[in-house]
Amino acid sequence: MPPRGGPSISDAEAPFCAVIGAGPAGLFAADALARAGAHVVIYEHKASPARKFLMAGRGGLNITHSESLDRFILRYGAGAARLAPFVRAWPPQALRDFCAELGETTFVGSSGRVFPASFKATPLLRAWLARLSRFGVVIATRHAFMGFAESGALRLIGPEGEFTRKFDALVLALGGASWPRLGSDGAWAARLGAQGVRVTPLAAANSGALIEWSAIFRSDFEGQPIKTVLLRHGASVARGDVVVTRGGLEGGAVYALSSQLRAATQKHGETTLSIDLRPDTTLECLARKLSRRLPKQSHANFLRKAGFSKVEIGLMRESRTGGLPRDAETLAALIKSAPLTVTGVAGLERAISTAGGVSFDELDDDLMLKKLPGVFVAGEMLDYDAPTGGYLLQAAFATGLAAGRGAARYLGLSPDQPVTPPEPDLAVASPLQDPDGRSPETSDKYSA
Ligand SMILES: Cc1cc2nc3c(=O)[nH]c(=O)nc-3n(C[C@H](O)[C@H](O)[C@H](O)COP(=O)(O)OP(=O)(O)OC[C@H]3O[C@@H](n4cnc5c(N)ncnc54)[C@H](O)[C@@H]3O)c2cc1C
Repeated sequence: MPPRGGPSISDAEAPFCAVIGAGPAGLFAADALARAGAHVVIYEHKASPARKFLMAGRGGLNITHSESLDRFILRYGAGAARLAPFVRAWPPQALRDFCAELGETTFVGSSGRVFPASFKATPLLRAWLARLSRFGVVIATRHAFMGFAESGALRLIGPEGEFTRKFDALVLALGGASWPRLGSDGAWAARLGAQGVRVTPLAAANSGALIEWSAIFRSDFEGQPIKTVLLRHGASVARGDVVVTRGGLEGGAVYALSSQLRAATQKHGETTLSIDLRPDTTLECLARKLSRRLPKQSHANFLRKAGFSKVEIGLMRESRTGGLPRDAETLAALIKSAPLTVTGVAGLERAISTAGGVSFDELDDDLMLKKLPGVFVAGEMLDYDAPTGGYLLQAAFATGLAAGRGAARYLGLSPDQPVTPPEPDLAVASPLQDPDGRSPETSDKYSA
């Protein structure tokens, strides 16, 4: 008889491995375990898997980066030494090969970032879930991890109520605490803390800047991207694309400055972020170009003819009181350094990622908790942080694989068996929905 609320185990001989969390880290750990011969059930408390991964897909799914591996690893900052063995063992090219295996080729964008050809997460996830299903992995959605019973068994709540489940090995891949509506709410931190596991406090990372736009700017330009700008805050600069949102600015360049914007706004209430709309043109060159204006030409017309988009012109207006300057040099100076007043940065509810997590000191080289033998940790639950650019997903995949392989070794299985591709099967283990419960293909919002 299957345990109450849980799926049945078809092969009683195979060791039973539970994975908690159907994000990229959990799915990849399950993939490795199933290939090694374990019986794997993924417990996921949302109604469908990988909602954050799908949300990342709305921004094009920057899956990894093409820069040299040494440089890549340095992006993890203080966590670089801890993550290096996992990323070296499964580097960006391996992730690209995995995507190709799933039928999704990848390409390198002009910034060196890597994207799937479809620019979406949905085809990749669909193929991956089908593969997991063929490997016999079961995804039990609407099942929440509640911690451990006194016996050491898992405590879970499913649609039929609370139950416990013994396991031979367990991989925890519950994610961080950002965008909690997508599933990862960080509630696990207290549960692991209760087991004596040291967890560095969870904090928002890669947050958007909060700016109080005028009602007209917000309604005209919300959702509009501005390409290749240079942001300056104090002595720090960050280059990239930004997007105007209802509450401010998002985008890689903003995220890169988010921790210092947070510190400055916490200290002073607000801080000035300046935006250079033409980072590759000098002030003098711009001033020369702008001095060729016809006497009766309107600002908007003149600037549009000079190549500025409506949102750029709106932003220049927004950044100063009293309208745009007529004088070419002052206008050029505004284009090179339009000041924006930032009142704060987004909290965990809208941050791209989470800093903090399970301390690496609590883990062995296979990502097993020293205090809880047989329990492995993967993905954003771990205490690492990284900028956007594909580093977050690469780390989730690489540590998911390491935890899955570690758990397989713990169970006495050989984790590196060659993959024998099972017969294609169109059925997937679990229904696939986008974060808002719509068909994923209808999603269009820029997210990262
Ligand atoms: C808007 C947005 C855009 C992003 N874009 C990119 C990008 O382009 N490139 C990039 O590299 N990174 C991006 N990221 C970050 C990336 O998505 C995450 O780093 C990655 O998903 C982490 O994977 P994970 O498996 O560790 O955790 P998650 O993807 O968060 O998965 C954890 C899973 O655990 C489940 N879970 C949580 N608690 C429980 C519980 N108690 N019981 C059962 N299940 C539970 C959750 O529902 C979730 O499905 C983006 C993030 C956001 C929010």
